Amino acid sequence: MGLEDVLSAMRSAEGKAGREGYTVGLVAVSKVQPEERVEAVLAEGHRVFGENRVQEAQDRWTKRREQYPELKLHLIGPLQTNKVRPAVALFDVIETVDREKLARKIAAEAAAQNKTVEVFIQVNTGDEAQKAGVAVEESAELIELCRNELKLNVVGLMAIPPIDEDPAPHFALLAKMAKEAGLPKLSMGMSGDYEIAIAMGATQVRIGSAVFGARKQSAAG
Ligand SMILES: *Cc1c(COP(=O)(O)O)cnc(C)c1O
Repeated sequence: MGLEDVLSAMRSAEGKAGREGYTVGLVAVSKVQPEERVEAVLAEGHRVFGENRVQEAQDRWTKRREQYPELKLHLIGPLQTNKVRPAVALFDVIETVDREKLARKIAAEAAAQNKTVEVFIQVNTGDEAQKAGVAVEESAELIELCRNELKLNVVGLMAIPPIDEDPAPHFALLAKMAKEAGLPKLSMGMSGDYEIAIAMGATQVRIGSAVFGARKQSAAG
């Protein structure tokens, strides 16, 4: 695959779904990838990247921020409250807000740093015990708290469907929930299922291996 192939597959998925072209964004998931692959994708002009660990993201991107001012960094992995300060400092978008305590900490840090971060609420659509994300039935309350009380810039919903299930019903559920909440963005779809996600309304897909090649180490989350 590679960047160009993924982008053109995204464009044809938009077309097949009867959607306007260039309406779905690509978050290139660079976690665990070797530096030379990341450099190659930067050289091709891509500027939106996703990472799932704060420390790894700091190591990789802090210096590059100066070199590439248009960089947009998304945190797509679980966030511990003790990492909120560096996460708010580094990331433009935090996609994994899934509990009140974390939301409160992000709001406080954003105020302290005088910074606005975009936030997605991560929903555990498969109701998996070990998986991050707010339960479907608790999500409306969390969205409400984040928007109205904490004044976070909540832009959408994010989900990772269970690996052993058809992702389509999960994407459909997430799309329905976002619509009900009046949230415009949907972060769904990875290397294996992004075309389905685009058909079901994704506004951004998070793609790692199809852009960069297979990851050598395993990366949790
Ligand atoms: C690793 C990861 C991805 C990308 O996975 P690929 O299958 O390599 O495309 C997307 N989203 C999240 C949350 C991830 O952790």
